[in-house]
Amino acid sequence: MCRKKQHIKYMKHFTAGNDIINHMDNLLPETSRKKWTAVFVAFIVLFTAVCLGYMNLNYDSLARYPFRDENSRELIKKYLNDEEIAYIIEYSIPPNMFVAYIDSPGFNIYHAAEYKKLSEQQWQKTPAMIVRMVEETLPYMDVDTLMTYLIDGNYSFDDVDAYISSGDYMQNSELVMFAGETDVFLDAAHTVSTRRPVLKTVDPEKIASKDGKRIQLTETAANSLYNLCTDISRGLESSRACAGLVISDGYISFDDQAERYEDAVVSFGDNARFYEPMPGHSEHQLGLAVDFGISGIMDESFEKTRQAQWLESNAWKYGYLQTWNVSDEPVTGIKGQNWHYRYVGLTLAETIHGMGITFAEYITRYN
Ligand SMILES: [Zn+2]
Repeated sequence: MCRKKQHIKYMKHFTAGNDIINHMDNLLPETSRKKWTAVFVAFIVLFTAVCLGYMNLNYDSLARYPFRDENSRELIKKYLNDEEIAYIIEYSIPPNMFVAYIDSPGFNIYHAAEYKKLSEQQWQKTPAMIVRMVEETLPYMDVDTLMTYLIDGNYSFDDVDAYISSGDYMQNSELVMFAGETDVFLDAAHTVSTRRPVLKTVDPEKIASKDGKRIQLTETAANSLYNLCTDISRGLESSRACAGLVISDGYISFDDQAERYEDAVVSFGDNARFYEPMPGHSEHQLGLAVDFGISGIMDESFEKTRQAQWLESNAWKYGYLQTWNVSDEPVTGIKGQNWHYRYVGLTLAETIHGMGITFAEYITRYN
């Protein structure tokens, strides 16, 4: 201190006219100046860092999003990336359009409208299921088409899903829209996938089955068959149920048809589908078709029986037609089977019979 005082005194004496700051500046020793500069710089750096950090903490990616519900905003920030957030802001998509689905596997914000629409129809499905349904089907059909299949076609989602994923059998084929109608036409290009109609077990008292197996048909097809049986017994003056006609097959499930088709592949290779329809493509899956026989006569000799001849003349009156005719082979792609009858409804059967054409010809001409 003593030396410093002396130094100041000395400087006052020998420095002429400079301002006081310069004096003071000069008074500070070199090391001290450097130290204060360093402190000052460090302070500025720290201050800037704190400011930036604070700004960052308070940066709100949803600042321009007009919907204020805090819960939704949290979820949006958690599940959506910047680009997706920019999208919901740009189009002002409200949280109630998509937040219920946001944590479901496969969620895609760009399909929010589809989720919303499907959920209004399929209200009993969970959000995760809605997302799955939309995401799995959207590459193949829009959501309106899916909804029509589910309601008007009475398909389950699993049926639609099976149609999409079972490329082996059904590549390029079309899923029939109104599969519950009696005039559905199935060929290699048209399928009902795994759809199962509402079925009724055929009464064996009214018409027996081959080997006593359980035969199922839709209720309308079964009732009309009973009428046919009553009348054939009367017409042929037979005391036997249905004049001795038996059924070897009614409804056949997709899985059973798959088995039959695989067997046909073993026997006929590439020609298998001529002998056995591909699963999804058989009229038997509609619950509308029956294969008639008499005590085990199922082959071509069936047509020589009087029961077969009665059927050829009269089955149409009960809504039944031979739909896999030999003459139709080029259209149906299926080997003619004169024991195969299919219920198409009373009106259509009468129309087609009156025109003197086959079901396949009618469909080709008028559908
Ligand atoms: Zn058949």
